[in-house]
Amino acid sequence: MTAGLRIEIRGTVQGVGFRPWVTRLARSLGVAGGVRNDASGVRIDAFASEEILGRFVEQLQRDMPPAARVVSLRSEPLAPSARTGFAIELSDAGGDKALSIPPDLATCEECEAEVLDPSNRRHDYAFTNCTNCGPRFTIATGIPYDRAQTTMASFVMCGSCKAEYLDVEDRRFHAQPNACPECGPSLRFVALGDGVAIAREPIVAAAELLKAGLVVGVKGLGGFHLSCDAYNSGAVHLLRERKRRDERPFAVMVRDLAAARTLAELSAEEEALLRSPERPIVLLRRREAAAIAPEVNPDTPLLGLFLPYTPLHHLLLRAVGRPLVMTSANVSDEPICKDDDEARKRLDGIADALLLHDREIAMRCDDSVARVIAGAPTLMRRSRGFVPRPFMLKKPVDRPVLACGAHLKNTFCIATGDTAYFGPHIGDLETVAALEFFEEAVERMESILSTRPEVIAHDLHPGYLSTRYALARNDGELVAVQHHHAHVVSLMAEHAIDGPVLGLAFDGTGAGLDDSSWGGEFLLCFADRFERLGTFRPIRLPGGNVAMREVWRIAYALLHDAFDGKPPVEDLPLFAQVPDDARRLVAQMLERDLNAPRAHGVGRYFDAFGALGLGRPVSSFEGQIAIAWDFAADDGATNRYRFEIDRARTPNEIDLRPAVRAMVEDIRSGTRPGVISARFHRTLAEASAELTEALLAELGRLPVALTGGVFQNERLCSGVQSRLANKYDVLRHREVPPGDGGIAVGQALIADAFLGDKG
Ligand code: ZN
Ligand code: ZN
Ligand code: FE
Repeated sequence: MTAGLRIEIRGTVQGVGFRPWVTRLARSLGVAGGVRNDASGVRIDAFASEEILGRFVEQLQRDMPPAARVVSLRSEPLAPSARTGFAIELSDAGGDKALSIPPDLATCEECEAEVLDPSNRRHDYAFTNCTNCGPRFTIATGIPYDRAQTTMASFVMCGSCKAEYLDVEDRRFHAQPNACPECGPSLRFVALGDGVAIAREPIVAAAELLKAGLVVGVKGLGGFHLSCDAYNSGAVHLLRERKRRDERPFAVMVRDLAAARTLAELSAEEEALLRSPERPIVLLRRREAAAIAPEVNPDTPLLGLFLPYTPLHHLLLRAVGRPLVMTSANVSDEPICKDDDEARKRLDGIADALLLHDREIAMRCDDSVARVIAGAPTLMRRSRGFVPRPFMLKKPVDRPVLACGAHLKNTFCIATGDTAYFGPHIGDLETVAALEFFEEAVERMESILSTRPEVIAHDLHPGYLSTRYALARNDGELVAVQHHHAHVVSLMAEHAIDGPVLGLAFDGTGAGLDDSSWGGEFLLCFADRFERLGTFRPIRLPGGNVAMREVWRIAYALLHDAFDGKPPVEDLPLFAQVPDDARRLVAQMLERDLNAPRAHGVGRYFDAFGALGLGRPVSSFEGQIAIAWDFAADDGATNRYRFEIDRARTPNEIDLRPAVRAMVEDIRSGTRPGVISARFHRTLAEASAELTEALLAELGRLPVALTGGVFQNERLCSGVQSRLANKYDVLRHREVPPGDGGIAVGQALIADAFLGDKG
């Protein structure tokens, strides 16, 4: 007895080998019918006995291609048909739109084996790929996603490649970037300076330079990396100097999991992240004995490792025989380099040579960064491998929205219908180059999604470049969104809940509704509004932005506040490093209340306590002192400091002045920094949990949302979570970053809800 079923599958199911896999599965079970891409995913018409169809549907949800992500599977009965055989059918005209471009995928195991097999025709071929792996988003120039609309268009497939491409049984059936040494892109090695192309085998030549301690610019998937020998202190130092990258850690690529294990401790979750087809950089706890040069990650035991994700990486790592620093090729905060000419200009003086190829990068896309925080895999930067994977919304937006994101670690988002799409990581919107990349990326995403946003959501801060962009666009309804509200709603979106929730949004800074900067907020949040129920007592920042770098100023202000205007600087090692006149100037600013804006950010408490506890007056980048302070903590230490919570104030205020005074006592009595740091973290977690419980005692049992960059601090995050998790639902981020790279989807939903209420 034949039955019929129409099955509709949504998610990342196009361009990932899904239809050939369905076809093989159907044929193996004797199911008749066909499969096609449509506008929202894949549609299957299947005919067989009830029993076989049952097994077919069951297996469709298992063993799928590694890069496929199924969001939903729906089926409805079809009239039985006498069809025989199973085939891939052509897509509907006009279909294949929004979802048709998948993210870039790391080289699969089969392709890797072919590249390393001397008898294979793709032996040593750096551009090998198949339907399960290879470039996608970064080579797409338009829609629908097929070869003519990629930067592979100029390469004409040879007979063998074409045969693979047309054979439904082949792993390369409809693999758009399919290529081989006969017909595909090729490598080139160019020395900088004289710019002469070197006629030798490019990978061998690059490996020789790297082994000699020099710096090579390597053209990758979404941009150039700067590479050097990660074991060679001199080489890493050279790169750091030339790149002018303060003291921020570099990422290191290792050839395989075994190599990763020699450098870092790996949990099962961390191994899974490293091996995932998205291949993010994973922040891991470095082994003490690891031979990695200390200049790679000064100041932190966290080491960013990742595995090769293109055949070029596999070949290069093998040729060099040791781990390589692979850091985005840019100077300071500018966007990553993507074009050959641009690289020759911008990387001259930084790299000694370039390993180039003639497949153009259509879209910049930096590496993603992930970390297991308090037991949960968390994306800290969502970019290559994830973009433009759709993010499903619980409720569709009324009109398409562009959300411009934050000022630092910018990522924008476009929401249309019931789906949101994050753009690639743009970085800090501080330079003209970064703004240009932002504009280019927004335009590209609009064209890929064939949508023109009618609502533009932006940050409250009038001075941000993203805000100015929104105002200048002049073609949509503008909605200004408070930064921390957006953080919380992003997390609500990730968990598909409408609210209300009690959100703890802890970060460095964000414009508040008053004239202070916020960042230690307890917000009762709905999609369209929020109420600020609690915060931290503000710290003054003498000199404004200067204090973010010269963190001793924040420490001084904290002491000034805690000791009634008479900071006990004589006894504190930190101030031995600060010139007297600088300190006097800061004292005057505080006394006269000149250029000393108030900040509620928990990040500023980390800066101040960290500077005092570590005796370090300067932070070379945002978060440096906070990270060092976190890792200074001694796990065995006991006790915490006293704090107060002023519940008479609106909003309620956590007052850490008693803790400041107790800490000064600890420093004077020679208590080790590790103990002080542990006590600080415990104080912060306890104070946050106590205020949360006090608020929830009045509000009722709401979910608690932990968000903001400060919750990337494992000690604080697990401290707050463990105090609350037995009584409340504690929500944490997974695929949407907790930091500013994650707020755009929140901005989009708030803008939509706000306008919906008005209309
Ligand atoms: Zn493959
Ligand atoms: Zn070929
Ligand atoms: Fe933030």
